[in-house]
Amino acid sequence: MLIKKFREFWEKNLIYRVFVKKYKRYFIIGTLSLIAVDIINIFPPLIIKKALDILSKEVSLTKIVILSALYILLSFFQGICRYVWRMYFIGTSFRCDYDLRMAFFGHIETLSEKFFQKYKTGDLMSRATNDMSAVRMAVGPGLLVGLDAIFYFFVIPPIILYLSPKLSFYTFLLMPLIPFIAYKIKDVIDKRFRSVQEQFSRISEKVQENISGIRIVKSFNMSQQEEKTLLKLGKNFMKKNLKLAIPQSLLGPVFEYTTYMGVIILLLIGGRMVIEGVITLGTLVAFQRYISMMVWPMTAVGWSLSLLQRGNASMKRIDEVMNEKPEIISKNNVTYIPHGEIEFRDIHIQYDSNKEWILKGVNLKIPAGQRIAIVGPIGSGKSTLVNLIPRIIPVPDKSLFIGGMDINTIHIKALRKIIGFVPQDTFLFSERVVDNILFGVEDEKSISYSAQKIAQMAVIEKEIQQLPNQFDSYLGERGVNLSGGQKQRITIARALAMHPDIIILDDCLSAVDARVEGAILKNIQKYFAGKTLLVVTHRLPAIRNFDMIVVMENGMIVEKGTHEQLIKINGLYTSLYSKEALEEKLIQ
Ligand code: ADP
Ligand code: MG
Repeated sequence: MLIKKFREFWEKNLIYRVFVKKYKRYFIIGTLSLIAVDIINIFPPLIIKKALDILSKEVSLTKIVILSALYILLSFFQGICRYVWRMYFIGTSFRCDYDLRMAFFGHIETLSEKFFQKYKTGDLMSRATNDMSAVRMAVGPGLLVGLDAIFYFFVIPPIILYLSPKLSFYTFLLMPLIPFIAYKIKDVIDKRFRSVQEQFSRISEKVQENISGIRIVKSFNMSQQEEKTLLKLGKNFMKKNLKLAIPQSLLGPVFEYTTYMGVIILLLIGGRMVIEGVITLGTLVAFQRYISMMVWPMTAVGWSLSLLQRGNASMKRIDEVMNEKPEIISKNNVTYIPHGEIEFRDIHIQYDSNKEWILKGVNLKIPAGQRIAIVGPIGSGKSTLVNLIPRIIPVPDKSLFIGGMDINTIHIKALRKIIGFVPQDTFLFSERVVDNILFGVEDEKSISYSAQKIAQMAVIEKEIQQLPNQFDSYLGERGVNLSGGQKQRITIARALAMHPDIIILDDCLSAVDARVEGAILKNIQKYFAGKTLLVVTHRLPAIRNFDMIVVMENGMIVEKGTHEQLIKINGLYTSLYSKEALEEKLIQ
């Protein structure tokens, strides 16, 4: 019963989960060499005792030489064991750290939008850095120091009891004080540590936002204001750290003080016992050595406990993220996708189960190889509709089909591989231009068009050639050194580079002039003939010759047909079109 309970506790334990489960061999070798070190540690004071006892009776040089040689040999062997043990514990803690980081990042990548709305970037960053380090410190130094201390506690007390029970009794009188003080101080440390960790999250969040939004910050003249806010956060962080430093630095001295009190008592009482001839001088010296040896484990226990405690707190924060279930999963492993029509069948979508419906029963068939435009006022649900196709948002069963197959039965990777998606918000990585263009390409040798050719199709090639290192130029954070229209065209190139069967452009040409937009659409028609093209746009003249134009309003399709058919109906499309055409005329 007790064993079972202990086992359960152990299996939930941080050290078991992170370290022992996977690296059992390292753990066993490390622990064995640790025991060896601690057992060897018993002998030096005994050797000194022996030498002193010999010296006080006779002067025998050979015996002393033998004892010295033994002393040196033991120290040497102990050094080796100590090396093994550190390597196995500290080295493995870095392996654990690596495993955990990879698992963490891998997991985050499977999660969907909802998750990223719940956790802010800075918060995730601090979990992935600070908390990971805290876990590594717990399973490395925390475990090492803790085990070492525990062995000392097992090894030394029996020996001093053997040397002199009476003397041991007096020195042990003070000992119970130590765990009590340790517990009190540790409690304070934990509370303050958590508050430091939270403050760090806030700071990284602020910094991250400011760097990503640097243009907004500058254009709104908020640099100084933001600096002030950050300064305040930083000051607070410092204050919290200083507050944490107080109990942390108290811990060691308090322990040492109590242990040295023990040494003083020992000298007072033990000295008398030597004078009275109850114990030998050698015994007293050996005794004193053992007591001094206890100083380290006394402090170490507190330190180890606080490292373990922090590791546990951090592991909880990591677990919180790891327990988030991916919303969009591959239920099936079908990787073959027919190049067929896309069909929305009475699809209803809401972002929150208690909020309004964003798509209210949309029926739409998009035949393979056709060019379809989706138009309509802002907020009518156009982005929502196209986001469903690569399953950026979860799709209800039996409401979206590709080539007659329910999209939810298709393996998600295979599905996304055939879709070239350009979302409404442009996002570029701070890598080279060519890396951004070839981002989705798995095997560079297999691509049909070179990065240059693709850039030409997206009408961005000339501008890339004017960059300092052309295609090898690095983009700043999120591509700050490019204009909005340039960024949009690179994201289009990125989608085209995958040579997709389905191309989706979600309002991604808003910052490009009408002439360039027309050229890009023409290029896509030319180089991707036979592929399905889905364009969400506000520029109606650009899509006049498309196969079908779908007009959305308020989460529903209100009109559908070719440009001529829709003009004839004289409804929403006609009014949007004449407004747009007028604006274009005014601009020209
Ligand atoms: P459009 O692309 O036509 O402008 P959207 O599909 O982006 O329209 O948005 C339709 C509606 O859905 C809007 O009212 C918008 O506020 C809401 N919406 C869009 N994305 C989300 C989201 N991630 N969470 C909650 N509501 C959203
Ligand atoms: Mg939109």
